[in-house]
Amino acid sequence: MITVSHLSKTYHNADGSSLTVLKDINCEIQRGEVISIIGPSGTGKSTFLRALNLLDPPTGGSIIVDGEDILVNANANAIAKLRQKMGMVFQSFNLFEHMTVLENVMYAPVRILQESKEQAREEALALLKKVGLVEKADVYPSSLSGGQKQRVAIARALAMHPEAILFDEPTSALDPTMVGEVLSVIRQLAKSGLTMLIVTHEMKFARDVSSRIFFMNEGVIYEDGTPEQIFEQPVRSATKAFVNRIQKLVYEIDSDEYDFLQIHTGINQFCLKYNITPKADLAYSLVKEVLFTHMRNYRPLTLRLTHTEMNGVTALDFMVEKLQQSPLSDAARQSLRPQVTDLIEETTARGFRIKLVI
Ligand code: ADP
Ligand code: MG
Repeated sequence: MITVSHLSKTYHNADGSSLTVLKDINCEIQRGEVISIIGPSGTGKSTFLRALNLLDPPTGGSIIVDGEDILVNANANAIAKLRQKMGMVFQSFNLFEHMTVLENVMYAPVRILQESKEQAREEALALLKKVGLVEKADVYPSSLSGGQKQRVAIARALAMHPEAILFDEPTSALDPTMVGEVLSVIRQLAKSGLTMLIVTHEMKFARDVSSRIFFMNEGVIYEDGTPEQIFEQPVRSATKAFVNRIQKLVYEIDSDEYDFLQIHTGINQFCLKYNITPKADLAYSLVKEVLFTHMRNYRPLTLRLTHTEMNGVTALDFMVEKLQQSPLSDAARQSLRPQVTDLIEETTARGFRIKLVI
């Protein structure tokens, strides 16, 4: 459906300097594929999507869509046609604030596809139903939550009967509590056979939903493969480092005056963000037990909650600097062991570390 060859993009800045963001992108996307694009920020993921949609025309290479090179004769008419075929959903929703939800969804089909108002309305209501928002049809976007706005934006993109949708970090601007509702709508679309390109930082989602993963790095598709290949057997070292990276939440506990409520909230938010809410209560109660009982007399200490998205390993790590031997008593060990998958006590160059894998 889409063939990209030697695509490049160089930005020329006002001060005469230039920045080549896309170096040499090559890929082929078949109809019905769901491709997640992952990679560090600043590597050109958004620029790539914007190039495909001609929001930001590339400076070299070709993009063939259904046999036509969209960079040749890219007049207003051809661009409008292309954008009808390839919808886009942005991080920042971009709804029309002065129109109701229903009007937002009906607008382009009436204006651009010349659908009758009745037909557009009927379709819009069906799409709002699909994204779970039919009861919000007559309200204005300002009264919606971020997750609801993004679902309206998806319905609006679908209203154009696109052949493909490009999503640019559709959940990055959302409060963690709202990520799930948007991802579940996208999951549902993935099953429907729509071609989708999704730039995302949600690794677990990318792994579940995609037929293929592009790992972008330094302006190229550095590695691509099935989710199994990219997440379990990445070939190149930068891919390995990226997928194995560890998410951390760190607190320095200097005295007994620390803000325990903040730690509690932090743990909950962290678990929500990385889709491990079932572990939140256990993490919290272990932190409480260790800080209040087993390691009450060890201050300062550093508490770290870590999560490796790739293998799903979550751990709590309590580090006391310059300490040589374990602060845990036998009773403490006996209390902790049944609650955790692994209890590691180790001396490190920095001090003594207790690690609880949960
Ligand atoms: P990603 O989406 O992977 O985080 P982007 O595609 O947004 O990366 O940006 C890649 C690089 O291009 C960044 O260094 C960014 O500063 C630069 N860039 C993006 N848009 C412009 C622009 N309009 N002018 C100049 N530089 C830009
Ligand atoms: Mg981006």
